[in-house]
Amino acid sequence: MRCISCHKLSVSTFCKTCQNNLLKPSVTKRTFGSLEVYSFFNYQHIEDLLLTKHTPQGYQLYRALARLSFPPFMKKFMENDPREIYIIGIDENVKSGYSHVALLTHEMRHKGVYIEHAKLMATNSVNYSGKPLQFRLENPREFIYSGKKNIEAILVDDIVTTGTTLKEAEQVLKQSGVEVLFALTLATVIQVE
Ligand SMILES: [Zn+2]
Repeated sequence: MRCISCHKLSVSTFCKTCQNNLLKPSVTKRTFGSLEVYSFFNYQHIEDLLLTKHTPQGYQLYRALARLSFPPFMKKFMENDPREIYIIGIDENVKSGYSHVALLTHEMRHKGVYIEHAKLMATNSVNYSGKPLQFRLENPREFIYSGKKNIEAILVDDIVTTGTTLKEAEQVLKQSGVEVLFALTLATVIQVE
């Protein structure tokens, strides 16, 4: 097969060169109010790859990126923190045959970690792509949470831009006694205003 990024012959989805350079996850932290958000990739660096997410290749690509980043993070996190931790993905609905976010949370399996699949669903599916913060604030996702109450959780989404969605999710979860420890996303979009 060929590397999905540079198209050189490769035994894995990404060749070693791309894994070591372009695709090396490096955790960045952003803070929105009191919510800390950790991301593995700068969106601009992997934009071309992420734009394939609605194609048949997208599934393979997303899973490969998730496997490079989420399992090592969880292993390290759980070594230092033996609490029971729940994982809550943002709006794990199925598009193009699979849920991008469910694919990420699936890679977070670990002893002591419980994944609440498809328990935080948006009832407003407005598209935020390319929209300014004001639009996002005026059109909330209107989440409904049906998962376990009174737990400590890590919130998961594929991309963070303004943090609006994650903040809204945190507020909804709080009403069910869910304490969001922090949020984790595959990529972060740093917007130049
Ligand atoms: Zn490559």
